[in-house]
Amino acid sequence: MAQCPICTRSFAKDRLEKHQEICEKSHAKKRKVFDPVKMRVSGTESEQYLKKIKQGGDKQQKNRYRQSPKKVDWRKQHEEFVANIRAAKMAQAHVDAGGSLADLPPPPPSENPDYVQCPHCERRFNEAAAERHIPKCSSISSNKGPPGKQGGKRGGRR
Ligand SMILES: [Zn+2]
Ligand SMILES: [Zn+2]
Repeated sequence: MAQCPICTRSFAKDRLEKHQEICEKSHAKKRKVFDPVKMRVSGTESEQYLKKIKQGGDKQQKNRYRQSPKKVDWRKQHEEFVANIRAAKMAQAHVDAGGSLADLPPPPPSENPDYVQCPHCERRFNEAAAERHIPKCSSISSNKGPPGKQGGKRGGRR
């Protein structure tokens, strides 16, 4: 005879092994019903996190999840923007050193919506093009005379 360490009942040795398996499982199940999550996370940061959720922070949580991809997007855009500027600076350095823009590989196509926007005509350009365009556009628009004369009444756009 041998004793089951879980329920302390006695069994024949050859039956004990089998019983212990079952006994363990049934005890584990009972424990699960009790509150496995609480047991696992108690005393950790997750505990407070869970509490927050249970307190009806569900909506807030969802909102936060909805916002986070936006953040990632912004970051990606920023990185592309920085890469763009860096490429433009490299091109500029190349030109300054007496090279030609034609020597350079074309800038990688980018879906970046953060191209530099011309403050005069509101068109968007990549960094290099904007550097060339904006001073030109600025002199053109200042030559046009008083504002509000260009093609219709002002205030109609945007
Ligand atoms: Zn047992
Ligand atoms: Zn412009």
